[in-house]
Amino acid sequence: MSSIALKRLYGKIAVVTASTDGIGLAIAQRLAQEGAKVIISSRKENNVQEAVKKLCSEGLDVKGLVCHVSKAADRQKLFEEAHKIGGLDILVSNAAVNPEVGDVLDCSENSWDKIFEVNVKSSFLLAKEAVPLLRQSKAGRIIFISSIAGFQPFDLLGAYSVSKTALLGLTKAAALQLAPDDITVNCIAPGVIKTKFSSALTSNEDAELEILSRIPLNRLGKPHDISGAVAFLASDDGAYITGENIVIAGGMASRL
Ligand code: NAP
Repeated sequence: MSSIALKRLYGKIAVVTASTDGIGLAIAQRLAQEGAKVIISSRKENNVQEAVKKLCSEGLDVKGLVCHVSKAADRQKLFEEAHKIGGLDILVSNAAVNPEVGDVLDCSENSWDKIFEVNVKSSFLLAKEAVPLLRQSKAGRIIFISSIAGFQPFDLLGAYSVSKTALLGLTKAAALQLAPDDITVNCIAPGVIKTKFSSALTSNEDAELEILSRIPLNRLGKPHDISGAVAFLASDDGAYITGENIVIAGGMASRL
């Protein structure tokens, strides 16, 4: 069983996308440790199976489905499953891609479209599709995962950074729209977190030293540095917070 003493999410049902590895997996694990039933997903069946096996072996209540967030039929399956097990209280939209490294105006049109399709449009669609179920919850929550790069574009992550800035705006706009339904909408902007996704930034000593020179706390983040804040926002403790973009980046500069 988990060693997390806080059990703020008993009775809640959560969907977390891109949750078989890295930050998404840590979020799914933490929500489940706090008592939620969690539907995890990603594109590859074997990754889903492995993550379900790992979390179930920890005594956590999780179900797994294949979901490529750009595929409407896959997204629909997530919400059908949530409906089947009792509804939906928490949506965490975490998937993102970065198919091309380079400055923003050098990005190919294909890569731009892919980045915006997965990082922004899928988050918009997931939120839109979740709303009917979230309206039936007593305390619906939407949490988008953006990036510190959305505040301060990273060198060579041009288009990706712009897509992450778009999520900050989506958060503000959706929060205003859904406030009358008591559904909160917030966004987490992680700094550099040690995962497969960030491995290019930390793969050699020089690159890692350069990144560390920009992190006042002088260490890379861990997926669990993010998951506690998501659980807080998802819980009753976060009930009066909406439309916020919360940076978790070890003190990295974060001003738009
Ligand atoms: P990661 O460790 O590489 O994990 C990526 C996860 O996403 C895997 O479970 C992968 O599984 C799944 N996935 C990839 N594309 C998908 C898609 N189209 N649909 C559904 N699932 C998909 O990545 P991460 O570092 O945890 O990143 C998670 C989020 O945090 C992203 O939004 C990223 O932009 C953000 N972020 C990360 C950092 C960082 O430094 N790591 C910093 C700021 C923000 P499959 O391969 O099976 O699909």
